[in-house]
Formats: sequence, C-alpha cells, structure tokens
Amino acid sequence: MFPVFEKFPEVRYGMSCCRDGTMNLGDPNGEEHRLNFLRDVAEIGCRSVFAPILEHGNSVACVTPDILRSKTTVADGAVTDIDYACLVVTGADCSALFAYDPKRRVYGLAHSGRKSTESNIASQFISAFRRYGSRPQDIRIAIGPGICGKCYSVGEEAAEPFRNDSLLKNYVLPSLVAGKTTHWFLDLPRMIRAQLEEIGVLREHIDISGQCTYEMSVLFSHRRDKVDPPKRMLAYIFLESPVK
Ligand SMILES: [Zn+2]
Repeated sequence: MFPVFEKFPEVRYGMSCCRDGTMNLGDPNGEEHRLNFLRDVAEIGCRSVFAPILEHGNSVACVTPDILRSKTTVADGAVTDIDYACLVVTGADCSALFAYDPKRRVYGLAHSGRKSTESNIASQFISAFRRYGSRPQDIRIAIGPGICGKCYSVGEEAAEPFRNDSLLKNYVLPSLVAGKTTHWFLDLPRMIRAQLEEIGVLREHIDISGQCTYEMSVLFSHRRDKVDPPKRMLAYIFLESPVK
C-alpha cells in the first residue's frame, strides 16, 4: 500500500510476486500465469487489459478505446481515463510507476529501468497526463519495487550518461577499491523521483517503495536470477467505477 493513494480507494493497483509465476510471455508458462493472475484482478473489477509491448524506451501511449482493443501498441507506459481499462506492464528490476490524478480521474502505469530512466520516460509520462488536462501538481505517483542504489552496479559505459546529467549525477556513486573506481552504483528510484520533481510533481505526492527486487527473494530480479528467458512480474492499475 502506498500512502499517496490512501485517500483514493478507487485506485486499484498491485503487482504479482514469485509465487504467481513468471509473467514473461517468452516463457512457455507465461501466458497461463498471466491469465490466472489477471483473473484474480478481474474479480475486483477490471474488465479490459491493456499490455503494451515494451521496448525500454520512453514512449507513453494515451489509451483510447481503439488503442485498448489493439494488441500491438509498442510503448513503455500508458495513460488513460477509461475506468474499466486495466493497464499492465511487466518487469523484474525496473520499477513500475503507478500514477493517478484524482481531479481528472486519469491514471497511468509506466516502467522505468536503466534505459528508460536515461531517456527520461518520467517526463513523457507526465506529458501524456497533460494531454488529458492534468496538472503535474495534482498527480500522485508511486515508484514500485525495483533494484536499489546499493545493489545496482554498472560499468563505466552504462554509468556515463548518468554521470554527465546534471540532474541525475547525484544518484551515481563510485565503488572504490584502493582509491580506484571499479564500477558505479545507480540509484534509479531516486533518479526517477528527481525527474518527476523537475517536471512539477510535488515531492509529497511521490512515494518510493523502497523494496529491492535484488534483495527480496519473493520478487524476481533479472540481475540476481540470471535465467533465460528472464522471469518477470506483472504490475497493474485501474480505477474502480463509481457506484451508479
Ligand atoms: Zn538492494
């Protein structure tokens, strides 16, 4: 449960964990696991699932009824005002971003791993909300479980774009052995929060889960598990329809 959504019981969201099985469609059992998990989610009220094909970029789809029916939208995030749509994304170490604007009843879901954080999907996510008339200061966002800044080490090449970014360089720490940098630690959740704040989301409207996929055995971690096809979890969000 994220405190930012406490006052808004209409927001229904969650994430699968290891005991639900891998949700990667590249796995022979992935589809069955998804159907089982989404059947349970359907019991609490969602009707139509939108699962974009992820590409680890920064594109965010605005989900209209037509797009909702399509099964071929390539995007790493989605925003909509259709109450009955259930937005889903998969991931292991990359954090899902759950978002809701209670003033406009617009909601969204994105995932931001290293590549999407480097290309600032957070700002594209907020831009998609603006297309529905949302103001950044009204949007509540929870940054879901992901690999934490103490566990996510990368080499020089992967660290470089973050070290050169004036906003993000504060969240890159060197690992020193005998005074020499051997690799770098990236704190992606705090980078995402910085990107959201830069575009106008209020700090008090952002929660960071703090749950590290690498450290928690109940969650899949691409970095820790090292299996092919990688095991992934499924995050979802939808709005419960108002009582008629
Ligand atoms: Zn960790």
